Amino acid sequence: DLGLSEADPEVRAIISKEKERQFKSLELIASENFTSRAVMEAVGSCLTNKYSEGLPGKRYYGGNEYIDELEILCQKRALAAFHLDQKKWGVNVQPLSGSPANFEVYTAILNPHDRIMGLDLPHGGHLSHGFMTPKRRVSGTSIYFESMPYRLDESTGLVDYDMLEKTATLFRPKLIIAGASAYPRDFDYPRMRKIADAIGAFLMMDMAHISGLVAASVVADPFEYCDIVTTTTHKSLRGPRGGMIFFKKDPVLGVDLESAINNAVFPGLQGGPHNHTIGGLAVCLKHAQSQEFKAYQNQVVSNCRALASRLVELGYKLVSGGSDNHLVLVDLRPLGIDGARVEKILDMASITLNKNSVPGDKSALVPGGIRIGSPAMTTRGFTEKEFTAIADFIHEGVHITIDAKGLVSGSKLQEFLKFVASPDFPLTDKVAN
Ligand code: PLP
Repeated sequence: DLGLSEADPEVRAIISKEKERQFKSLELIASENFTSRAVMEAVGSCLTNKYSEGLPGKRYYGGNEYIDELEILCQKRALAAFHLDQKKWGVNVQPLSGSPANFEVYTAILNPHDRIMGLDLPHGGHLSHGFMTPKRRVSGTSIYFESMPYRLDESTGLVDYDMLEKTATLFRPKLIIAGASAYPRDFDYPRMRKIADAIGAFLMMDMAHISGLVAASVVADPFEYCDIVTTTTHKSLRGPRGGMIFFKKDPVLGVDLESAINNAVFPGLQGGPHNHTIGGLAVCLKHAQSQEFKAYQNQVVSNCRALASRLVELGYKLVSGGSDNHLVLVDLRPLGIDGARVEKILDMASITLNKNSVPGDKSALVPGGIRIGSPAMTTRGFTEKEFTAIADFIHEGVHITIDAKGLVSGSKLQEFLKFVASPDFPLTDKVAN
């Protein structure tokens, strides 16, 4: 049996290039991270060969004695990593990723066309929380369910809970979703619980971005107030690409969440679980209980604060004025430029981050902001000092972009910068995740 270099040098070469790109760049995409060697070993193991539809002890295939052992271990570690009592909470570790996990919850507890409310995508929410435009139901969630997103108060950059309450009282959703892809603050879970209780709705938190921070108790704990908590496993948690759904064991609003959710995952929406991912996840969840992991998550938050305060010192406007977690959202509109151009210029300098819409943006195609996250570079050992320097690098990139507007002709660089500043510059609609 040949190794990759001999069997397929073409793919080997692409992987090598991607590895070099990851190694060389300043990785600031808030939803990305570098997982550990131990996790990668488990993900690249023979576990990928096995079919195991069903749950431990109740499989539709033979030969699952070790897979059962692994999945039970993974479930136990998941509950322990989030400080949950096994009698009160259960978990399904089979979701293939974050979006499927969310859709599995919806199909478990809702009927088609039931009403839901999640944070609007242009205000920081995720596609899978029901995004739609006035012209089009973009996400499967908004096609199969009736979505009425809640929004931020544009003057503060914080969730407008008063408006959420008013709208929820009229719209009467069956499910309210907390959680976001680009929100630098904690959610007010007690307030959301109150709103959900007043109308008899389920409350779910999608903690995909902040699950590592939740495990380390460096942000507010959604489990105290929510009925269901979903997450991806590859962001701040530093695991392999995957998803998890946590549910209360006691019935909620007359629904047995455990069987509804387990059935929605399989046979509802998935077939065989990705056992190599579950193996990698188990490894990640063991690490998530360590002191080292807690120290890492504390550093993620401190680094983000250092970045935010340097950006403020340099005169930038941050959505909500700062950050409680692992990301900052910079509003570039006061400088007369957009996030798409800044993203491109920084990319050329191997600084990887993403353009992002900010509250009040007129166009999703040319968003007015950038999102910057601290998890990945913190994994690589960066501290406050380096993150302060990162703010200065970004400042330089922003100024190159601004200067580009004044350039006419000359060197290749000037030509390129002129192109970047021109209306011909291709602005692909990359949606943040
Ligand atoms: N939920 C949130 C809050 C996210 O930010 C993302 C991000 O990508 C997802 C869900 C979807 O995860 P995935 O890309 O794994 O489907």
